[in-house]
Amino acid sequence: MEAILIAIIMMLVLGALLGLGLGIADRYLRVEVDERIETVTSMLPNYNCGSCGYAGCFGLAEALVNGEVSVVGTCRPCKSEQREKIAEYLNTTPGTDGTCVKVKP
Ligand code: SF4
Repeated sequence: MEAILIAIIMMLVLGALLGLGLGIADRYLRVEVDERIETVTSMLPNYNCGSCGYAGCFGLAEALVNGEVSVVGTCRPCKSEQREKIAEYLNTTPGTDGTCVKVKP
């Protein structure tokens, strides 16, 4: 009976220590992701066809937000009105550094 009690206490202590470790890791090792990448990804067609030269729509969205690509039309399947919306969004929405990306539809 005493061995079971010790095992239960050890499991609780171990769980608490691991939980504390995860909490600390979450606080200090967190990678900040630019919300614009997620938004632009959701605005793209999400065919993940790769014709833009990136593995998927997330890759092009990341390239647009980072300034590597300056023309939304790099995504050929994207309709013109959607290109306009993406360009307007990126040209008017500042990132974490307070600057906007200048892209053309
Ligand atoms: S071309 Fe457009 S739809 Fe195809 S992967 Fe690139 S962003 Fe996505």
